[in-house]
This record gives sequence, C-alpha cells and structure tokens, in this order.
Amino acid sequence: MRAMILEAPGEPLRVAEVPIPEPGSEQVLLRVRACAVCRTDLHVVDGELPDPKLPLIPGHQIVGAVVRSGDRVERFMAGERVGIPWLGFTDNSCHYCLTGRENLCDNARFTGYQLDGGYAEYAVADYRFCFPIPEGYSDLQAAPLLCAGLIGYRSLRMAGDAERLGLYGFGAAAHIIAQVARYQGRKVFAFTSPRDTEAQRFALELGAVWAGDSTQPPPEELDAAIIFAPVGVLVPAALKVVAKGGVVVCAGIHMSAIPSFPYEILWGERSIRSVANLTRQDGEEFLALAPKVPVHTEIVPFPLDEANEALKALRGGEIQGAAVLVIG
Ligand SMILES: [Zn+2]
Ligand SMILES: [Zn+2]
Repeated sequence: MRAMILEAPGEPLRVAEVPIPEPGSEQVLLRVRACAVCRTDLHVVDGELPDPKLPLIPGHQIVGAVVRSGDRVERFMAGERVGIPWLGFTDNSCHYCLTGRENLCDNARFTGYQLDGGYAEYAVADYRFCFPIPEGYSDLQAAPLLCAGLIGYRSLRMAGDAERLGLYGFGAAAHIIAQVARYQGRKVFAFTSPRDTEAQRFALELGAVWAGDSTQPPPEELDAAIIFAPVGVLVPAALKVVAKGGVVVCAGIHMSAIPSFPYEILWGERSIRSVANLTRQDGEEFLALAPKVPVHTEIVPFPLDEANEALKALRGGEIQGAAVLVIG
C-alpha cells in the first residue's frame, strides 16, 4: 500500500510502498478513505512530542471501511464505515481506567503517534476503540469529527455551563465546537491572531456573536474560554477576560511556555485546566450529538501524497476549517 512515513522528527514525510498490515485478533483492517489532519500531527512531525514510534504513519482522524477482522472482533461488519480516533489502546486495569478516566491511562497508546495511523491506504485498529460513523456525513466531512470534534467536545464539557464562551484559535476544533455551543444556547466569542480577518469572518458565519483579535478584550466578560491555539501567552490573556469563577481550558497537547502573570487575574476562583485525550464515552456522546446539531464541517481536501503540503498549510494558518487527506 501507499503510505506517508515519518522516519525522523523534523523531516518531511516520505511517500513509501509498505505491506498492508495484518489485523491482530482484536483488530479491524480498514480501507482508509479519508484522514483529517490535526495540529497534534504537526507536533509529532516537528518532534514536539517525545518518543514517537519510528518509522511512523501519522494521522488519527481516520474514516474507512472494514475489509477484514480478527477472530475476537465483536463489532463492525465487513464493509461497515468506521472511525479510528486518537485513543488507540488502554490497559483497562490502571487506577485511571478503573475510575472512569481512561483518557489518562498510564499505559495508553495513541494512533498516529505510538501506533501507525491513517496517512495510508490501509490501517488497523483495536475494534474496541473504533466508532461507527454517523449517517449523513461523507467520509471527508466525518473525518474531522474524530479529533477536532471529540477533543473539542470534551473541552466544551470542561467549560461547564458557561453561557458566554470564548474560543481562542478558530481552526478545525473551534469551527465544530462553535456550532455545538450555539446549539446549546451559548454565546460564542471567537479570538484569532491579529489581522486574521478571514478567520473572524468565518467565525461570524458560524454563529459567533463577536470575533476579534486575541490581544483585545471582548465586548463583555466571559464565563469560560477554551484555548485551541498552542500559544501560552493566551492563558493570561484569557484569564483577564473571564469573570469570577470562570475557567480557562487548554485543549491542546502541546503549548509554548505560559508567561508569568499577577495572581490577581487568577483570584476570584478562576481556574486553568488542560484537557488530555478522550474517553470512548466522549466519542459515543459526541458522534450521537453531531448529526442533531447538525455540525457541518468545512474541509480543505488534499491528496495523500500531498500530506506535507497539508501540514505546511496548517502550520501557516492557511486552513479554514479542517485539512483532510482524500485516500479512498
Ligand atoms: Zn489504564
Ligand atoms: Zn488530534
């Protein structure tokens, strides 16, 4: 099969012909049709996350059809459309797994990082971590739901019942979560890099009540903010505009250093928290909710062998919505 391979962090991916993987007894083999590109893929490729599997096939927002299954697979028929997310394995026995927090599992393994992912014509995955894809979504439109959507949704839950919600960084995750937040009756305030008027216009089209520069205060106080951009300076910026009792949720896996800030902007029972990974319950919940909203994903397609160009466009902030590799 054709695959895009990372041989060493910091180097571009290389097009390669590699053997089609054999599914293990609890794995499904998928013919990949689409794989959305996530900012985490950039962190892996750029060497900002430690110890990736090497060589590695990146990609953890995979939509494909089941070709073959191992003998202990109890879900998904041949031909069925399935999604493979970031969480690829948990031990189901550590303290975190046993207390309903498998996203924090000590022995978790992640797709497109410690396990080969979806920048390829075929992929295998443990069926217990795969999701059925909701009807009504094309393969390309479904792919960004699998991380931008799932982890965005978990971040939104961490924002509690905040009515006035700030979203910092209006990329793949924010464009999905803005739609969900609006459906839930919240008011969305979108913050983008200074002068990114296109992203601001995009946010307003998706129902944000205000969109502007992340260095500027919004027209009213916020009850919560979610930071999707990997930019530490946004943490004190967001703290300054959330009301007493408000929370600032850091949704990314990697962020530049957070500058020191005066205690008074945290005081008043404001809090800062991160979101790590997803649980399977997050996935089931979000994929049931998405068609009800209904969430519409805006996608920018790239052919598989232009994965480097897709990553470059994401790095440069040129993608409106989500970049998706078209594979099937
Ligand atoms: Zn565990
Ligand atoms: Zn992701």
